[in-house]
Amino acid sequence: MLTPNMHYADLKDSYLFAGIAQKVKHYQQSHPDQHIYRMGIGDVSLPLCDAVIKALHEGVEDQADKERFHGYMPECGADFLRQAIAGYYRGRGVALAPDEVFVSSGASDELGDILDLFDGSSSALVIEPAYPAYVDANVIAGREIVHLASGEENGFLPLPDEHTVADILYICSPNNPTGAVFDREKLQAWVDFANKNGSVILFDAAYEAFIEESDLPRSIFELEGARTCAIEICSLSKTAGFTGTRLGYTVIPKELTRCGMNLNAMWVRNRTTKTNGVSYIIQKGAAAVFTHAGQEQIRQNIKVYKNNAKVLMAALDEVGIWYTGGKNAPYIWMKCPDGMGSWQFFDYLLNEIQVVGTPGEGFGACGEGYFRFSTFGSPADTREAARRLTDLLRGK
Ligand code: PLP
Repeated sequence: MLTPNMHYADLKDSYLFAGIAQKVKHYQQSHPDQHIYRMGIGDVSLPLCDAVIKALHEGVEDQADKERFHGYMPECGADFLRQAIAGYYRGRGVALAPDEVFVSSGASDELGDILDLFDGSSSALVIEPAYPAYVDANVIAGREIVHLASGEENGFLPLPDEHTVADILYICSPNNPTGAVFDREKLQAWVDFANKNGSVILFDAAYEAFIEESDLPRSIFELEGARTCAIEICSLSKTAGFTGTRLGYTVIPKELTRCGMNLNAMWVRNRTTKTNGVSYIIQKGAAAVFTHAGQEQIRQNIKVYKNNAKVLMAALDEVGIWYTGGKNAPYIWMKCPDGMGSWQFFDYLLNEIQVVGTPGEGFGACGEGYFRFSTFGSPADTREAARRLTDLLRGK
């Protein structure tokens, strides 16, 4: 009899978003007249910008024209898009060859698929609290997982020490869920650690576009030595509202080798075996993000989310509650007041002020006692949620 991948049995049930949805549904059924202020889910609420929509329409028209029609796309990405992405990095002082950029259908897909590059015996270090897919993708692969807890004492930005041992290192900066961002010095410590130990960093830069302090690194390749130890995984989901349109990209430098194997060449082999490329129309739309007009327009959308962050941060400042994130990230990670547990605080906010966030415990055990707000909601709802939060928590 066939043996399925038994590691699936090791996955913990993910109650996080299902649990939230169930509690909200239950509350709504018993309070049908109440409006719910949804600050929980990390999905965008603004539509794609005009430059992207125009390019998508052009892509559709191309597919209707015999001369301009595209069939299968190159597996690693259309040259025009790889060039555009390399140009985007060049604008930030990072030199990449276009064939070091791999176009994908999104960061989630890549975060799972990229594990094909590593032997099953390699261990994976996950800094927690963490985006749940890092752990689950490695559980499915049957890998040993090293959980590195972080906390308020290190601003949720832990560093490797003499006890740290791991082959694959997940670093997400700006971080989901904490919104914390590694500065150059701290990120350099991870790069140096990886080079010294022969580890590979999987740098999740899904939120790089939210960094506003110019001295914070937006790409790991801004750091010395990263080309020999890092892979960067990025996405247009939050940068340009592509959560439902789907496009991401992965950077694998040609210098990245382990045991005589070149990881860039391995990934070319992987993609040409396992994919037939991303839709021409979507790649055409994505290329528009990197034009001057596209960049201006996505900045306007990001500004709306950043204003939401300011409103929520002002509310927490007013009531004197500790938090991280918000300034360079679309998430705010606050400490629950009065020593409340994160689900307890979830229920308290839902019942008292109809505000929904995400309990920190859902991102790893060390997230207990913390709570995440997303800033991707509507400005009107965010303002009202912040007002209610201030009234409720004043004096706590
Ligand atoms: N990485 C992080 C840290 C995320 O928060 C998300 C989505 O929320 C992703 C990756 C997935 O992005 P994508 O929509 O490109 O799959």
